[in-house]
This record gives sequence, C-alpha cells and structure tokens, in this order.
Amino acid sequence: MDKKALLRKIPSVEEILVQDEIKKLITLYPRGLVLNIIRSFLESLREEILNSTDSELNKIEVKLSSLIKSLSAYISVEALPSLKRVINATGVILHTNLGRAPLSEKAKKQVLEVMDGYSNLELDLKTGKRGSRYFHIAGLLREITGAEDGFVVNNNAAAVFLALSTFAKGKEVIVSRSELIEIGGSFRLPEIMKLSGAKLVEVGTTNKTYLEDYELAINEETALILKVHPSNFRIVGFTTEATLLELVDLGRKFHLPVMYDAGSGALVDFASRGFPGEPTIQQAVKMGAQIITFSGDKLLGGTQAGLIVGKKEALEKMKKNHLTRALRVDKLTLAALEATLRHYLEEDVWDNIPVLKMLSTDLKEIKKRAKNLASKIKKVIGAKGEVSLMESFSQSGGGALPNVKIPTWVVTLKINKLPPLKISELLRQANPPIIIRIEEDKAVFDLRTLLSGEERAILRAISHLVV
Ligand SMILES: *Cc1c(COP(=O)(O)O)cnc(C)c1O
Repeated sequence: MDKKALLRKIPSVEEILVQDEIKKLITLYPRGLVLNIIRSFLESLREEILNSTDSELNKIEVKLSSLIKSLSAYISVEALPSLKRVINATGVILHTNLGRAPLSEKAKKQVLEVMDGYSNLELDLKTGKRGSRYFHIAGLLREITGAEDGFVVNNNAAAVFLALSTFAKGKEVIVSRSELIEIGGSFRLPEIMKLSGAKLVEVGTTNKTYLEDYELAINEETALILKVHPSNFRIVGFTTEATLLELVDLGRKFHLPVMYDAGSGALVDFASRGFPGEPTIQQAVKMGAQIITFSGDKLLGGTQAGLIVGKKEALEKMKKNHLTRALRVDKLTLAALEATLRHYLEEDVWDNIPVLKMLSTDLKEIKKRAKNLASKIKKVIGAKGEVSLMESFSQSGGGALPNVKIPTWVVTLKINKLPPLKISELLRQANPPIIIRIEEDKAVFDLRTLLSGEERAILRAISHLVV
C-alpha cells in the first residue's frame, strides 16, 4: 500500500469517539484530555507513515479495531494524573525525586480528615477568636524537643532563609568553610545567604575551623553565628570544628544569636539502632542554640516542611517578619506534621513512622520478603529469564547518613533479550510506575523500600514484560 492510501485509511477522531472502549475511557478521564491524546496519537501515526520506507510501511497497522486496542492502552497511561503514586524499589529511603518520606497511617488519615471539610486552622475553639495556625504543632515541638517555642514554614531552605533575613539582613553571618553546603542541587548556602541580604563571612579552612577563627571574625557588623550540619558529606582525616556548645558560649559572650541548621532533624537516637550517632534536635536545644532549623520530610519522616525551634524571643522575631506569611504552610501540611510528631510521644516510633521502620527493618525479615518475591517472579517469567537473591546495600538518601551502607537483600532479574536499562524503562512506564536500580548488569528490586502490598503490582508489571 502506498503512503497516500495508508494515510486515507486512518480513522477520523469522530469514528474513534463512538467506539465502546473509547467511550468507556471518556467516563474515566476528562473528555478534553482524552481528545487531545487521540489527536496526538493520530498525528504521530501520520508522521510515522510519512517517514517510513516502503518495507516499513507494511508493518504499520491502521485497521480500526487494532488501532483502538493500542490507542486504548495509550490513553489508559497518558490520561492518568501527572503526579501519581510510584513504587520505590531503589532502596533509597529518602529519595528526593520520589517525594522523600511516605507518611504514616495516622498522618494519612489526619490529612484526609482535615481536607474533607473545614478545620479550625486559625480559630481558637475555646475563645472563638482568631487563632494561630502554628498553635497546632507548637506544643508538640516544645514537648518533644524541649525548646521554648517552635513553628514551621514551607521547607528547611525557607526556614534558613527566613532566619538569615530576620537576624542578619545587611549584616554579617559567620560560617565555617567546611559547612558551606549544597544540598540536592538547588540549596546552596552562599546563594541563600545572598538572597536573604546577609553577608557571608567564611572562617577556617575546609578541614579545620577553630573556635578562635569565629571569635577573630566578630565585629560590629556581625549579627549571627551559623553552624550547619554537613548532611550529605563528611570530612574525614585531620579535622577540627568548633562544637555547637562552644559556639553558643561564644555567642553569649558577644551577645550574638547562634543558629544551627540541623538539616535532617533527627528526633530519636539513631545510635540506638546501630547507626552512627546523628546529633539530635533535643541535644542542640540543650546546648542552647537560639534558632534550630530542620526538614520535616527527611529523618523526621513527615511531610515537606521547615521546622524552627529555639528561644521564644528569637522565634517571635521571625514570626513577625512579613516573609513568614509568604512561606507559610497549608492545613494539609500541618495535619500531616501534627500526626507525625505525635508518634514521637509514643513508645514505638520506629514501628510507626515508615522512614524509621524502613531504616531499621531486620535483615532476616527483608530476606524472607525477598525470597517470597523471587519465587513468585520465577513463576511469572518461567524460562524467559533469571531470578535470584543477592545481598546488597540500601541508602538513607535525602542528604542524611551519607556514609552508611545499610545491608539489604534484593531480588535480581534478567529477562532474555531485554537489557536491564530497558527493563528499568518499561517498569517506569507501568501503572503504577516502578522505579528500580541496576546493579551488576541486572535489574534489582530492593525489598527495604517496598511498602506492604506493592509486590503484587511488581508481579503484574513483570508479567507484561514477558508476554
Ligand atoms: C536538606 C537540607 C536543607 C534543605 O532542606 P529542605 O527541607 O529540602 O528545603 C538545608 N540545610 C541542610 C543542612 C539540609 O540537610
């Protein structure tokens, strides 16, 4: 068949729209969206025909029934919401590209509850007067961290920005050269500093910064001493740093506030579960830092947020800054955060917060789940590939516990004639998408980051790979 004849055989949008399968899809997805997808599908079919050689033309299918079949499959994927649930089989627990921390059962319930109707977001139910949205978490933050006060903004980057702008606009901030961090590409301390109007004064060297270095840099322009948790890297070897406690003493001597950007926000003792001891927020509070900032969705295990705890006077000043209004969090964030923080008042926080649970799941338990998944995958792929178990390592991710290799068990998968990169690509396009890692030239499913029930979707997706 020549190109013109083939092009003429392509069905019209109207013809397609009256097909039962398509009509059904229009009840599931917005009609305008489906129409656009049909048009672009037909457009790429036309292009394919125009760009084909004669021998390729024979393989192009324009028969209505088979077109409807492939078009329906295409619509079913393309018409899904853009932001959707995915399965994280990468073994990176706080994967920033995958939305960092999954929420706990109670946090999810609370978000649903609050979004389902109205809420007392800014209403004091006792007096009937206007309340503060920060009220809902302030008590919890005081209780958990021991700080005088606490509130929250959009994320930790915003918290740092707000603090710098409040205390050091047009003034100097002293930071060690070993702590001028970049997190996840877009948070660069010197840039945030510039934006806030504060002037960065670097002291010390990459590996050694002494307390005297800070002291020597203090002058009338100094407004703040800043210490930053290195988060996603460690400097090892010959190193010296001034501790937060020493800096707080120094600040007291010169009447300067001391701020600690704690990054991850560990609220429990990680050493108790065999991890290298992360400094906890409670310790930083005890040391007397005026302002402590940390993320809500890293080791804390909640939603995206920037928590700020510390001295009441300092925090009041920050709340009065008009920037706070621009950086404020919404009710869904507050609902998720309050429910997550409440776990920290319970005994079994390591069981209830998914991030902490994944970090601490017993290796034997992971191996058991890996074995189980492997045997089911074997049944699905039969002789079309190879499945086995392998010991490997998961990671915390999210700029936390950077040197820690967390032992894990993974299921490795090879499928005949399908290179691992291709497997990874096809699984990304599954519904729900499955994100894996590649190791030793094999597709790898890390059981540590799989949530319960996700195995079934993996099996379904793999079964589509081998048909
Ligand atoms: C992650 C991190 C930030 C940025 O926090 P976000 O909540 O992602 O905005 C800032 N400072 C440190 C030390 C961090 O680890």
